[in-house]
Amino acid sequence: MSEITEGTEEKKDRFSDLDYDPVSLRDRYREERDKRLRADGNDQYVEVIGDFSHFLDDPYPDEKIERESLHDDVDVVVVGGGFGGLQAGARLRDAGIQDIRVIEKGGDFGGTWYWNRYPGAQCDIESYIYLPLLEELGYVPKEKYAYAKEILDYSQAIGRHYDLYDNALFQTEVTEMRWDDVRSRWIVSTNRGDQVNARFVAMANGPLNRPKLPGIPGITDFKGHTFHTSRWDYEYTGGGPDGGLDKLNDKRVAVIGTGATAIQSVPFVGETAEQLYVFQRTPSSVDVRGNTPTDKIWADGLEPGWHRHRMENFNALVSGVPQAEDLVDDGWTDLIGKMLQRFREGADGSGRSIGEIMEIANFDKMNEIRDRVDELVEDPGVAESLKPYYQMFCKRPTFNDEYLPTFNRPNVELVDTEGQGVDRITERGLVVKNKEYEVDCIIFATGFEVGTGYARRAGYEIYGRDGLSLTDSWSDGMKTLHGLQSHGFPNCFILSAGQGGFTANFPHLLEESTTHMAHIVGHALKQDYKSVEVTKDAEEAWVETIVEKAGGAMGGLGGPQCTPGYYNNEGQPNPGARQAAPYGGGSIRFFELLKKWRDDGDFEGLEFGS
Ligand code: NDP
Repeated sequence: MSEITEGTEEKKDRFSDLDYDPVSLRDRYREERDKRLRADGNDQYVEVIGDFSHFLDDPYPDEKIERESLHDDVDVVVVGGGFGGLQAGARLRDAGIQDIRVIEKGGDFGGTWYWNRYPGAQCDIESYIYLPLLEELGYVPKEKYAYAKEILDYSQAIGRHYDLYDNALFQTEVTEMRWDDVRSRWIVSTNRGDQVNARFVAMANGPLNRPKLPGIPGITDFKGHTFHTSRWDYEYTGGGPDGGLDKLNDKRVAVIGTGATAIQSVPFVGETAEQLYVFQRTPSSVDVRGNTPTDKIWADGLEPGWHRHRMENFNALVSGVPQAEDLVDDGWTDLIGKMLQRFREGADGSGRSIGEIMEIANFDKMNEIRDRVDELVEDPGVAESLKPYYQMFCKRPTFNDEYLPTFNRPNVELVDTEGQGVDRITERGLVVKNKEYEVDCIIFATGFEVGTGYARRAGYEIYGRDGLSLTDSWSDGMKTLHGLQSHGFPNCFILSAGQGGFTANFPHLLEESTTHMAHIVGHALKQDYKSVEVTKDAEEAWVETIVEKAGGAMGGLGGPQCTPGYYNNEGQPNPGARQAAPYGGGSIRFFELLKKWRDDGDFEGLEFGS
């Protein structure tokens, strides 16, 4: 994205209609970014293994499932029982495939919504488009933005509807997948001693599945209680996802992190804790939530096809494609839609360049976000600390009506680390700018691994033809056709966002990619092909397309107006990022491209083995 530059009187004139100075605002963004840049980038985080592995323990199951190890054969193993795995299962069933086994490390279906049960957890994308398969199940969510419990229950309903419980293995982690070229089978090994032979495997591990911890010096010294938000310890806090964390009444609590998870959970901790310290490195942009219950008359009147129509309407608007109406009409369509529309219209009559128009639109939106902080937070100093100074979309925007007012409570203190993070953790608490904050409990709202190797995030290695690991095969960058299949890894499907379509509504991408996968698997099984693999040429051509168009997908995220975060590899140059980018032509064109590929019927770029 180009920038407004200082200089001529003529330039000043072009911005004279603004009631702020865009040049100094841009300088402020740059300062905030520079303050936060650090040489260790992504390595600042600690991998949750060894001494930290207890952070991954499942706090939710009623009991441990005891069972014998399995040694058997199935048509398809689906790894992961979240939306990706459920949608894969559903679309495979639709393609007539019966013999499916889902393997899931949690105790039930749900994925993200199984693990993330922190108080206040709620979908950020409108539930009428975020929840998949709504028409298939005949379900309409209870509210515009559904809470986690409803989404978890709904995930389980999908599992029942498509008979995915029948053959599923819960509390089971895949430890390795190895292709047996002689038998044309994947041997899927698990931590329960299973060895499942599968004709096909679909990896739906989730894009943000592996919690990460900050590498703060002394992190292991703390003698009090700790947990990560994705494994909320209700035994310690009391209460439940609706709040009422009564066991915190006599506790001093620290929350580290102020991303989307903290924004939703902090109000509930603040409500009951004797003292809450929120340790902030970078403030989030917090826009209006405005949740509403579902209007029964509206729900009863929905016509067949409404769900896809609504998803596509949203996706078009957030992709900057004008629509006759805005069905979702929320912060996302407002934010992205308006900005991209201005970009496409090209001019606003001010004589500004397109880059300048976009930048001004972004400044305007972020000014609105900063003004909202002043409206909701009483102490002007605290309000100033809570204002985000970077471009919208450098970090994930959040939407919440309770987070900011929480800082008006006498028992809640914002500890602004001014971009530096917590300096040290001691036996008793946390140190920032030489002041120690003594606490009983530290809650890590520090997010999930992004940008680390695929196998590390998945938690298992995948060995394809000739024993080559996916890690080695991708050592110089991700390689796939359509983000779904990789040469050397026959009968294996990857359900993630890299080299596929990007949309703010991830389940929409999953709908398209699982439909595509089921089409290929269904064909191979019907024709009794032993294998289906992407040719090297087709893969190379797709990688070239991705790299060529990557600018469109990456936007200005790496630019000087963006503070570091997981959207931009913590501000570090990342040579692999272009190659792992989503399709730069946008998700609408990507989905059309997949459909046309299927309609053409010649399975271009794939080789079937019999
Ligand atoms: P994030 O990665 O967004 O946030 C992590 C937070 O930890 C950041 O505020 C980060 O600061 C802070 N942090 C990291 N290290 C330190 C340190 N050393 N000292 C102090 N603070 C530190 O994680 P979340 O779990 O909040 O969200 C992850 C993603 O999950 C979201 O982006 C979103 O995609 C998804 N999500 C979706 C929701 C929904 O749809 N409803 C709800 C919640 C999450 P800094 O910004 O400076 O790096």
